[in-house]
Amino acid sequence: MSATRRYLPVFHDIMGASVLVVGAGSVGARKIDALLAGGARVTVVAKEISPPVEERAARGDLTVLRGTFHPDRMEEAELVFVATPDRALNHRVSAEARRRRIPVNVADSPEECTFFLPAVVRGEEFTAAISTGGRHPGAAKALREFMEEHRAEISVRLERGRRRKRIGARPGKVYIVGAGPGDPDLLTVRALGLLRSADAVIHDYLVPAEILSLAPAKAARICFARRGGTAGHGAVLKQNAIHEAMVRLAREGKSVVRLKSGDPLVFGRGGEEAEHLSREGVPFEIVPGITAAMGCAAAAAIPLTHRERSSSVTFVAGHETDEKGKSAVDWSLLPKDGTLAVYMGVGRVAPIAEELAAAGFSPDIPFAIVENGSRPEQRVVRGTLSDLPRIAAESGVRSPAILFVGRSAALPLFISSQEDPGEPVAQSV
Ligand code: SAH
Repeated sequence: MSATRRYLPVFHDIMGASVLVVGAGSVGARKIDALLAGGARVTVVAKEISPPVEERAARGDLTVLRGTFHPDRMEEAELVFVATPDRALNHRVSAEARRRRIPVNVADSPEECTFFLPAVVRGEEFTAAISTGGRHPGAAKALREFMEEHRAEISVRLERGRRRKRIGARPGKVYIVGAGPGDPDLLTVRALGLLRSADAVIHDYLVPAEILSLAPAKAARICFARRGGTAGHGAVLKQNAIHEAMVRLAREGKSVVRLKSGDPLVFGRGGEEAEHLSREGVPFEIVPGITAAMGCAAAAAIPLTHRERSSSVTFVAGHETDEKGKSAVDWSLLPKDGTLAVYMGVGRVAPIAEELAAAGFSPDIPFAIVENGSRPEQRVVRGTLSDLPRIAAESGVRSPAILFVGRSAALPLFISSQEDPGEPVAQSV
């Protein structure tokens, strides 16, 4: 066999086939297991039989001929495997098999093989075989690992192919997927696989182009902006349009990724969208993502809970207001010994600071605002509650930004700083 030769990859039906295996050590045992799994009738010739092969023989799964190899043993064989430590014997068996035109595989000896067993990745509905012609087992292993990582994506594609084959229009599926705070490295493996195999992506304005570019170029991309709040009539129209687009695309048999920043079930209306799909009878699945509070806390080294400084964490929306412009949140009900993570609050820091003070939060309690958390433009601004409106105004922080309030939000002990408390601290973490 030559390294430059091109082989014909085949999947061989061995149900009921006679297969001769010469050698019964650990390599032989692995081959025997694969052969038995495929339904072959296996005959083993070996001087010494290893315990796993002995066990199989005792169960009656195979025939064992103890002793030396004789060419007559090949009479019935449709395939021959050789795996003994005796190179001369391996060579002799291989030559005899080739003379009889029986396909032969010799372990660790590519030049004596007429076929190879590939590295195999098995999914629920597929088997992928990878071969380097027996020459680079390491590369085959790396490829196999790569495929295993992409199993989710492969399954989605298979599912889609199956749907297309079905007679009559069956609905596709909507994946309500969290994209994390912005850094593509913070996507889940599942989110990446679904994105890569999407037919259509319906996303929010907060999802960066770098993440959207992971979807195939031919996938439809639909952006629904929700800037300017969610309470007005316009916002309702937009939400309806999202509902309609998801249902319509899924009914065309498409794999639709509804991509939301952070986690879809944290201030993301993922719940409403799932309800709508369920009412319309469209199959859906929810894939979690790293929510902004978690992504930004990690980026700014804020321990959301801490044995001495924070006994709880609360995710709260800061933008919702009643007719008088007051927060819809009752801050007095929130724990004062924990960390508050205020989403969508950066446009209203002055009223929020006032309301927090009125609800009994101490003016000395630290805050941190993380703007564009996990993205290249990330900024962190810190201070104490009494200075929040001034520091926020001076630093000009803008959405998307999250406000943390609590003792954990102070500069972490392990980051040393000479700054006066109360002065804005802009770090590029
Ligand atoms: N479902 C999202 C939240 C959507 S609401 C999640 O789980 O994260 C939008 C708000 O999320 C923004 O106003 C901001 O407060 C916050 N946010 C999202 N991405 C952010 C980021 N990269 N940095 C800081 N805040 C972010």
